[in-house]
Amino acid sequence: MDLADLANLAALARDAARLLVPVSCAGCGVDDVPLCESCSAPWWDEPFRAEEGAGRLAVLERVPLAVWAVSRLEGAEQRAIGVWKDGRKRDLDPFFGAAAARAAAAVREHLPPNLVVVPVPSKPRSVRKRGVDLSALLARAVGRELDAPMEAPLRAAGTTSKGRSSVGRWDAAGVAVKRRLGPRPVLLVDDVMTTGATLARAADALEGAGSPVVAAMVLAATPRRDVGANGG
Ligand SMILES: [Zn+2]
Repeated sequence: MDLADLANLAALARDAARLLVPVSCAGCGVDDVPLCESCSAPWWDEPFRAEEGAGRLAVLERVPLAVWAVSRLEGAEQRAIGVWKDGRKRDLDPFFGAAAARAAAAVREHLPPNLVVVPVPSKPRSVRKRGVDLSALLARAVGRELDAPMEAPLRAAGTTSKGRSSVGRWDAAGVAVKRRLGPRPVLLVDDVMTTGATLARAADALEGAGSPVVAAMVLAATPRRDVGANGG
């Protein structure tokens, strides 16, 4: 058997594996599609303002950041984004990139000109595990849509340690500036927002380095918990 035969065998094995690995919807589990029509639909809704659900944004020493979210982090949407992020469903990369770009187009009129799109930095360990930097992937798609450059001036710094209070975790999970961008307005982009702590860190770091952060965009955000709806 020569090298060409081996290469053919390898290709055949790959194809066979592909046939054996069942494809199912990341949202509801229905067969044969990476994301079915009904689970795809919410990702094309109008983006909404999500900063009120993010308690940690309040730690910014200024008016809380305006955050646009495409979808709520609950139900089938939460499952789909979890499978995309941690189930390494790389076949969903184009879908979520397109959803972020579509949302950017929808809020374009609320954004200033001369914008720079900056991804919230991913931990190097997460990028290695997933094989892709998800926030950079989204930021690139948003930048293309807005005709704005994507720059990555931030890096993840410090570590998150278990067992600390939420305040301690927030203090420990840092974001550092690798290089200054100058005074151009920044749109931050991330995959999900829960408490807003990471966005707040990134905004603080950029503004400390002289770049005004005008808004953030995320794919999914924790829904606002209405006080009183469930007794507090
Ligand atoms: Zn589905």
